[in-house]
Amino acid sequence: MKYYSLNHNAPNVSFEEAVIQGLASDRGLYFPENISPLPASFFDTIENLSNEDIAFAAIQQFVGDEIPTEKLKEIIAETLCFDFPVVPVENGIYSLELFHGPTMAFKDVGARFMSRCLGYFNRDKKDSKNTVLVATSGDTGGAVASGFLAVQGVEVIILYPSGKVSDIQEKQLTTLGQNIKALEVDGVFDDCQDMVKKAFLDQDLKHKGLTSANSINIARWLPQMFYFFFAYKALKSQNKKLVFSCPSGNFGNICAGIIAKKMGLPIHHFVASTNVNDTVPRFLVDGEYDPNPSIATISNAMDVGNPSNFIRIQEMYQNDLAQFKKDFSSYSFSDAETTVAMQHIYKNNGYIAEPHGAVGYLGLKKELEKQDENTIGIFLETAHPIKFLDVVEPALGVTLPIPPQIQAVMHDEKVSTKIKTYEELKAFLD
Ligand SMILES: *Cc1c(COP(=O)(O)O)cnc(C)c1O
Repeated sequence: MKYYSLNHNAPNVSFEEAVIQGLASDRGLYFPENISPLPASFFDTIENLSNEDIAFAAIQQFVGDEIPTEKLKEIIAETLCFDFPVVPVENGIYSLELFHGPTMAFKDVGARFMSRCLGYFNRDKKDSKNTVLVATSGDTGGAVASGFLAVQGVEVIILYPSGKVSDIQEKQLTTLGQNIKALEVDGVFDDCQDMVKKAFLDQDLKHKGLTSANSINIARWLPQMFYFFFAYKALKSQNKKLVFSCPSGNFGNICAGIIAKKMGLPIHHFVASTNVNDTVPRFLVDGEYDPNPSIATISNAMDVGNPSNFIRIQEMYQNDLAQFKKDFSSYSFSDAETTVAMQHIYKNNGYIAEPHGAVGYLGLKKELEKQDENTIGIFLETAHPIKFLDVVEPALGVTLPIPPQIQAVMHDEKVSTKIKTYEELKAFLD
């Protein structure tokens, strides 16, 4: 499979080159040249397939022969080392729980898959290394640290804003050691992000083989299609139309779902649910893409003013706004509405949703009003409530037990290097 740049001013590249580079030389995101539907027989018999078989069938065309079949199967098995339950919440509404991985965030899937692809591509490179440089406001960093731990030939450097991430998140970033280094930046998330962007453009650092580990990287982004197939498998026997609501920030998750639909997965409709960072909901109203600076909310993993993957969604719809609106809605919700939704879900159904999942639930409810009786809705629950306990505990008046995989890191010692300026980052990299 070849990938082209969405800025159309860089050469087409292989899967391997796209994974190693992250972003094309013209700063465009990579997109696959073809998306081929899977055979009808695959969907007819999907209930007989394991998650690993499904994932292999889904991703194979995007990897081609660049990773041998046996190795790709091994990578998938290591990626999917946990469950993806579809949990009934209320009549006709399900939560697709994506938080049962090692760091209890859905980003575990993409981070584990990408790290193992990079490890494979580095298998014979004794002297050279790839350096994954990533800025985090909290959740991504932990998943990347865990996913890349001990992967051969890859060094990971995570920048996070000092004092601005939760204790659990900080422990997940700073305690693993080995090839994972944490830089504690005296500043806010945007300062971390600016330093990372500057490093990618810095000619002095070209030899370092810097790459990113956010959803602009195809190996972080594409495997997120897997769990839409798993949910279909779980709900297929009900014979209803499926509406998926994704709590969306950079729109990588929902964009992977749209790829699954292009491959023939029978998804009736998508809802991109956002917090007050509402660039896409506004776009659907007037067709104007007019990004705003991001606003801080309680669902902070979605505090994104200019969603990086939206351009990939536009590519799939070729700017056909009418068709796009048929398949896709987007609604935005305030923190107050989100808190009320968390309380409503808990009181009526005994289900604890964290703020991102609650935004997904709200968008789903709104869309289901427009759909007929023969429809069921699924919202993606993208993190375990313990990851957002500062919000969940006071809102619901509960105390959450700490799961074992979180307890394990809480006892380990934090190791970080404090930095303030870009020059200090550069010195650290050299
Ligand atoms: C990253 C993240 C999101 C947003 O996902 P996108 O793919 O960027 O739209 C939602 N919820 C949580 C908990 C996240 O960590």
